[in-house]
Amino acid sequence: MSAELLRAERIGRRFGGFVALEDISVSFSAGQLTSIIGPNGAGKSTFFNILSGALSPSSGSLCFKGRELNGLPQHRFVHQGISRSYQITNIFPDLTVHENVRVAAQALTVSYDIWRSRARLDELNMRADAALEAVGLQEKRSTIAKLLAHGQQRALEIAIALVSEPELLLLDEPTAGMGPEETREMVALLERLSQRRTVLLVEHKMKMVLGLSKRVLVLHHGRLIADGTPDEIRGNAEVRRIYLGQSEGYG
Ligand code: ADP
Ligand code: MG
Repeated sequence: MSAELLRAERIGRRFGGFVALEDISVSFSAGQLTSIIGPNGAGKSTFFNILSGALSPSSGSLCFKGRELNGLPQHRFVHQGISRSYQITNIFPDLTVHENVRVAAQALTVSYDIWRSRARLDELNMRADAALEAVGLQEKRSTIAKLLAHGQQRALEIAIALVSEPELLLLDEPTAGMGPEETREMVALLERLSQRRTVLLVEHKMKMVLGLSKRVLVLHHGRLIADGTPDEIRGNAEVRRIYLGQSEGYG
């Protein structure tokens, strides 16, 4: 039985009068690859944004390793050990792959005399290399980011999220826009990453998620309607009904 890493309690979120999330309580254990699935508009990204500190909940609380996270700005989430991937817009297209990750590593440090210290610079470079190694991009380190294939850009986003060496890595639809081959490569990468840290995925692709995850949560209309192993989710009548007729079925 692994330790609890993150706990969300009675999370709600409104946008004006619209209720995007309602009364979600869930606890995430260390070392598990957990996925959150649900149809478009279910509230997955909203929940993801709350768990990563990008958005405040309208109600409820978050606890990471026993510490309340309520009201903390996102960079404090990163310092606590929670990191997330950003969309491609966060990549500097004209910098190399390695420079992109190094800039992210630099942004984590608060020291202004960093450039004066050769040792610190070496450390940043090493951190960047380790993150690139973790996502299998080390051979592309000198490539200009905009010249990478789509799947490699998504891997670069993950490398950027990894420079803070997070205990909990949150990824929102890491296979979005990918064909079958790139999706297979990303799934293999997610499996590797989850061996060394806790990974929480938000995904639209049911089949992929059921093959990859240890635990699956299902959101529908802002509510948590199922929480279980992939087999339990496969056998859940309500989940089947929701996904019936969707383009991305069980497969
Ligand atoms: P998902 O990621 O599951 O597709 P989202 O979390 O993006 O769903 O959105 C859930 C619901 O909340 C949708 O109906 C969406 O239109 C609404 N929503 C999300 N963000 C905002 C916002 N900033 N302002 C108003 N409505 C929003
Ligand atoms: Mg979304």
